[in-house]
Amino acid sequence: MLNKIIICEKEYSIDEKITNILDVLVHIKTTSNNSLAFKYGCKSGVCGSCAVRVDGVEQLACCSTISLGTTIVEPLKNLEVIRDLVVDDRNIKNRLLQSKANLETKSTNEVTQNDVDKIDLQSNCILCNSCYSSCPVYEVNKDFIGPFALTRAYRYLEDNKESSTKSKLDAIQTNGVWDCTLCGACSLVCPASIDIKNDIMKLQNLSVQNGYKNPTFSNSSDDMFGGFDSGADFGFNPNGF
Ligand code: SF4
Ligand code: SF4
Repeated sequence: MLNKIIICEKEYSIDEKITNILDVLVHIKTTSNNSLAFKYGCKSGVCGSCAVRVDGVEQLACCSTISLGTTIVEPLKNLEVIRDLVVDDRNIKNRLLQSKANLETKSTNEVTQNDVDKIDLQSNCILCNSCYSSCPVYEVNKDFIGPFALTRAYRYLEDNKESSTKSKLDAIQTNGVWDCTLCGACSLVCPASIDIKNDIMKLQNLSVQNGYKNPTFSNSSDDMFGGFDSGADFGFNPNGF
């Protein structure tokens, strides 16, 4: 028996014994189309390099199986396709720099196991880019810092070794935490089970606690509420405007 698979709009028939999507890609490349371009590394869901869309949903090719009927495999969305299933993720790596998601100023705080556990899940990101492919905000605004750069910013803000929290919070105010619609699409596709949406909500809370405002509310006129106090003056603005 043969299964059907469409890869980048080209149809192939595959022996039903080969069910793993990455095995299918390797089989096609070695038997019928040696120009097919795709990336892979560890073959065990750890390196994040083989992420593609299977039937419209972001998945690691090495961890997904062919579906009944016809399976459609496409490159990740919202990234420029270099060839076939290989995409250019340089813009996303730049968003990571923009979010300052790294250790800036090392504190002398003692780090307990409890501190490590608090950011353990966020540290498991495998940089697969699936969350950016699923994000409707990144789809329309390539300057949006985006899911994994924000979840990583949260990881460093909660890191007891980091003492530059102000500069990190500053970095994620524009095209950052307030632009997320909290739709949760990123959390649904994350192969590391990171609840990115939840981390972004926590970043919004941390921002408010530190005096930042949601620009949607701070720019709205009280008049539209007929003189009712909309809460636009809640907190203080550390940027002074
Ligand atoms: S929750 Fe925010 S970051 Fe995640 S996909 Fe939705 S808009 Fe994008
Ligand atoms: S947060 Fe999850 S989906 Fe996004 S890059 Fe990291 S592992 Fe992939």
